Amino acid sequence: MALALIVAAGRGERLGTGRPKALAALAGRSLLQRSVDLMHGVREIHQMVVALPPGVSAPAGTTGVPGGAVRSESVARALEAAGPGDPEGVIVVHDAARPLASLELVRATLGVLAARDDLDGAIAAAPVTDTIKRAEPPPSRGPVPTGGHDPQAPDVAGVVVQTLDRSTLWAVQTPQAFRRAALERALDVPAAVLAQATDDAWLVERLGGRVGIVESSGENLKVTTPLDLELAELLLARRGAASFHDAP
Ligand code: C5P
Repeated sequence: MALALIVAAGRGERLGTGRPKALAALAGRSLLQRSVDLMHGVREIHQMVVALPPGVSAPAGTTGVPGGAVRSESVARALEAAGPGDPEGVIVVHDAARPLASLELVRATLGVLAARDDLDGAIAAAPVTDTIKRAEPPPSRGPVPTGGHDPQAPDVAGVVVQTLDRSTLWAVQTPQAFRRAALERALDVPAAVLAQATDDAWLVERLGGRVGIVESSGENLKVTTPLDLELAELLLARRGAASFHDAP
């Protein structure tokens, strides 16, 4: 039996819809409702808690809790609202901002955790296809040479200090599944540590937890900008067309 925590309390300013991102509509259903429906489809999940932005009520079949100032605080609040549970149980954390996650992906993270007792967590991630470089802020350009360049000319955004080995890099997504005891311990940290976390797996890793990667694809995109929402619409339309063509 598993508990699902859906975090939906982000403000979504970059989406520019003037309301919380979780309420943005995607092919007739909100991002939040899509994640809730996804988790309702997973047999192992028996309880769902949703971290919500102010003024948004909990979807049917879920418990709602006001979100925190940062994402991991929202996860911590949702876990607290779930009440005590079996330490051997499993918790799946999912971002409402990833409305294209598939049932198969959620099941795969749960399945890997069930099959491997050497792991504390199993997280969805896609292989990195871009070359990733680390850069430092550019040094100041100093005085403009006499008769030289236009001071208004564009400057570099950074100076490369390292090119990372792409073959070892993964772009991390949700769903992320954890053993309950590991996640509870990982979230029981000062607010400053929660504020540093960009995913829950890092909080588990920093205490020495072992986290496995379940390969996903870039299709499980995170909706941040209006372009992401358009892409998500297109991908959903393609899925609809595929299931139409697959029909007998
Ligand atoms: O901001 P970002 O897109 O990384 O957020 C990822 C997920 O975390 C989103 O589903 C968002 O609603 C949620 N979130 C939250 N509470 C916050 C910030 C983000 O539940 N304070």
